[in-house]
This record gives sequence, C-alpha cells and structure tokens, in this order.
Amino acid sequence: METEGRECAYHDHQRRLRCTECGLFVVQCQCEDVEHNAHHRLWGDDGKMIRAIRGEIGQHREAFPNTHYLMAGLVEATGDLMKSLIQQQIGNRQPAEVFHEAVKVAALAVRMGTEGDPDFPYEPYAVFGEESSST
Ligand SMILES: [Zn+2]
Repeated sequence: METEGRECAYHDHQRRLRCTECGLFVVQCQCEDVEHNAHHRLWGDDGKMIRAIRGEIGQHREAFPNTHYLMAGLVEATGDLMKSLIQQQIGNRQPAEVFHEAVKVAALAVRMGTEGDPDFPYEPYAVFGEESSST
C-alpha cells in the first residue's frame, strides 16, 4: 500500500499517519480503492463537514495537546456557536463563521469522546479498548 502522497490519510495526535477510512496505520491499511471510495463519501455536505472537523481536531491537538479542561473548552465552544447564531440573526456573522463554530464544537466533542478529560472519570479505553486507533 502506497503511503507517500496519499490523500486519504491523516496524522493522529502522536503524528502517526493513519487511513481516513479504517483508522489503521497507513502501512497496515488494506482498504481497496481507498482514494475513490473516500472521494465519494467525502463529496457530500456531511463529508465536507467531517473533513473540516478532522482538520480542526489536528489543529486543536497541536495547539492544546493536554486534555485538561477539554470539557470546559467544549462548553465554551458551544457557547461561541450559540453567540455566532445570534449574531448571524442580526447580520453580524456570515454563514461560514457559524459553520466554523459548529466544526469547533464537533472537534472538541470528538476529542472528549476519544481522549477524555482527566478531570472526569470517563476512560475512552473502556469504550475503544487498548488497541484504540486514536492512540
Ligand atoms: Zn484503510
């Protein structure tokens, strides 16, 4: 499986290259025609948002690798989304700005679900197992 120049791959929070389709390391991926299948699945509105969320997750992990206060960040992002919706109603926000706030909420929710917040007892490993694809 080719790894260089592959589009359907992303770096996890430990900078390891993973398949966007199966979540395995790219060198372990056995997806067939992954670029074609991913292109179709990522073409729709959901796919566009999911791609934006993946990008936001990566940026957020780089900016804030520590998961302390992740839940507080999610609540703050949710408030920012609400504010942007209200501001759009009075003409002070563009739809793309509201979309980006929604992407941030989703990205933080994914991090909360996959990494947890040490301030709370939730353990992602209890859901995903020790062989989790995000660790
Ligand atoms: Zn794969």
